[in-house]
Amino acid sequence: MYDVIIIGCGIVGASTAYELSKYQLKTLVLEAEDDISLGQTKANSAIMHAGYDPEPGTLMAKLNVEGAELCKELCQKLSVHYHQIGSLVVAFAEDELPTLQELLERGQQNGVKDLRIIDQAELREMEPNLSQEALAALWAPTAAVINPWELCIALGETAVVNGVELSLNQRVQNIEAITGGYRITTETDSFETRFVFNAAGVHSDLIHNLVAEPSFKITPNRGEYFLLDKSEGNVVNTVVFQCPSKVGKGVLVSPTVYGNLIVGPNSEAVPTEELDTGLDTANTAAGMEQVAELAKRSVPDLNLRQSIRNFSGVRANSTASDFIIQEAAPGFIDLAGIKSPGLTSAPAIAKYGINLLEEAVGEQFVEKAGFIDERQHVIFQNLTLAEKNQLIKEQPDYGRVICRCETITEGEIRAAAHSPIPPVSVDGIKRRCNTGMGRCQGGFCGPRVVEILADELGVSPLDIYQDRRGSFILEAATKEAEVTEHA
Ligand SMILES: Cc1cc2nc3c(=O)[nH]c(=O)nc-3n(C[C@H](O)[C@H](O)[C@H](O)COP(=O)(O)OP(=O)(O)OC[C@H]3O[C@@H](n4cnc5c(N)ncnc54)[C@H](O)[C@@H]3O)c2cc1C
Repeated sequence: MYDVIIIGCGIVGASTAYELSKYQLKTLVLEAEDDISLGQTKANSAIMHAGYDPEPGTLMAKLNVEGAELCKELCQKLSVHYHQIGSLVVAFAEDELPTLQELLERGQQNGVKDLRIIDQAELREMEPNLSQEALAALWAPTAAVINPWELCIALGETAVVNGVELSLNQRVQNIEAITGGYRITTETDSFETRFVFNAAGVHSDLIHNLVAEPSFKITPNRGEYFLLDKSEGNVVNTVVFQCPSKVGKGVLVSPTVYGNLIVGPNSEAVPTEELDTGLDTANTAAGMEQVAELAKRSVPDLNLRQSIRNFSGVRANSTASDFIIQEAAPGFIDLAGIKSPGLTSAPAIAKYGINLLEEAVGEQFVEKAGFIDERQHVIFQNLTLAEKNQLIKEQPDYGRVICRCETITEGEIRAAAHSPIPPVSVDGIKRRCNTGMGRCQGGFCGPRVVEILADELGVSPLDIYQDRRGSFILEAATKEAEVTEHA
């Protein structure tokens, strides 16, 4: 029997696994997909919010501010990209100015440091490409940008290195109470555990309903984005938000941690009723037009022709206004309805949830000796020339550049294939070492990544997926097709 099973491995499940791996506990993570971080954690704005948005006194306010501090430390310890570029909430009309003051006061009550309102002159100096209509802004220097899946994978890998078990392709379908805990059933297996964390994101209401009366509902909401080429990455220097208003929260324009520009998101309801329903993450023409129009309010000369990728993410909005962190049944903790700022808050959500469990079951978990709180991750292009030469001498694979846009070497791809949570798809490799993230979006390196991954997995290139299970890239030519082609 396991001590703890975590259902779902997005940033909340991975943070909980990382935190639990510090204790003498037998912990298992069950994830429905063939990799971790494929839910909301994969597709969002990637902002470490400073913490002026949530209502004071809510869990969101407390955990946002605590989480922002913890994320900063974790990114440093676990070798995850983190750029503290600060954020601006910009007022474009006189009637938006009181909102800046409200957000300032809210942030101060929440304990956000160094917030202040800046006037038009200072704003123009900081962001010369902003609309001439920009009047003033709330400046939050503690806000930052990260790569969300990189942090999730770093936390998941560290948990695994410290003894947590991770089982992929395990979609939880049923949970029954048994003596001393729960039996959790997936499509293929069943597992017994004393305690459970429900970190199933958009499906966290359905998992809750397997053990308790329905008390909340997830109301999924899609946000669409443009990702622009690095040539546009310095159009703004900070995360530029618009003032939230009656008509919506506006969209942001921000540099990414890799120097691209991200523009979005809008907000659209998405239906999901069943545990096995896939979420609709398609981009829509109407959605993209809406994002473009709103973003040009901030930066009128935005060059969306430099878009290299569109994507969307689905928010786990819920019928509750706050995060839902509660004991749903004895020893069963919901970490549910974790919408924005959930990425920022996740490490604090994990600590809070574990404390709640300890209190609820009247047990103090015992820390284990030898916890490894670091992650080695070679990024070839960040090495000095001498370090590069030395590495190539020792491992010649690092001398072959596969992804030309991002300068990623074969050595990094092969190292990713041997990482503690080995990827099984081309995008899994991308999430670990950045291949295909550049202007060509994998057009050049994709076929080589397929070959290398097939070699590492000992399978045919025909068996390699682009991303989720079944998304095959290559198809064997049939005799008939070959004949037609050569005719
Ligand atoms: C458009 C958008 C923009 C956002 N921007 C920001 C931002 O800038 N900053 C910020 O702080 N937050 C932001 N967020 C919020 C943030 O992304 C989420 O709060 C966070 O990723 C939630 O993580 P999670 O682990 O709870 O959920 P998820 O990442 O969705 O993970 C849930 C996991 O559970 C798995 N799962 C589901 N059902 C089952 C099952 N039955 N059995 C097993 N596994 C299951 C899923 O496959 C998934 O891997 C944004 C969200 C969106 C969508």
